[in-house]
Amino acid sequence: MEEQKCFVCGEGFSDDHNALCGNCGHRFHIPSTPEANAKVCGSFNIDRDSFMIVAMCSLCLSRPTDANVTDYPD
Ligand SMILES: [Zn+2]
Ligand SMILES: [Zn+2]
Repeated sequence: MEEQKCFVCGEGFSDDHNALCGNCGHRFHIPSTPEANAKVCGSFNIDRDSFMIVAMCSLCLSRPTDANVTDYPD
């Protein structure tokens, strides 16, 4: 009953480049460092109220929220 597949793309995880979405709580692909060669199925955002960095999956990012969304600088 393990849930070790990405909530966004449905693929498994082969390394540590993944995180739990702060909104829906599902695990998704995200590079632990911006230069990492890993799948990107979401991004890190700054919560405007707590100033905590929270991970958000692409599905939640595509929905309107009150969070102040800040993408990785490319
Ligand atoms: Zn994924
Ligand atoms: Zn999510």
